Amino acid sequence: MLTLQCPCCGLNADETELHPGGEAHLTRHGPGSTDDDFEQYLFLRENPRGVHFERWRHANGCGKWFHAARCTQTLEVFGTYTAQTAEPPQPIRDAISAKRPGWSWRGLS
Ligand SMILES: [Zn+2]
Repeated sequence: MLTLQCPCCGLNADETELHPGGEAHLTRHGPGSTDDDFEQYLFLRENPRGVHFERWRHANGCGKWFHAARCTQTLEVFGTYTAQTAEPPQPIRDAISAKRPGWSWRGLS
């Protein structure tokens, strides 16, 4: 069972207390953007077998959204952080790189 620590209230919540919100760190494009950018924003999502950054809501807890870095293959959780964070924090990226040498994501490692 997936267990994530909510960075907002500090509780360890199992997946029955959480609501998934899809991919984290999307770049939002609206009116005036190119068709390709708008298509990317609306329809195209990463679906890796491995490290993924996701949005979760502590639905049966504090109710706040947060981000989680985890492996979709092993369910290993590398860390959680608030939804207001623009990119994965360096300590989490370091934890991923320590266990997945050579890992990178959107130019970050
Ligand atoms: Zn919470």
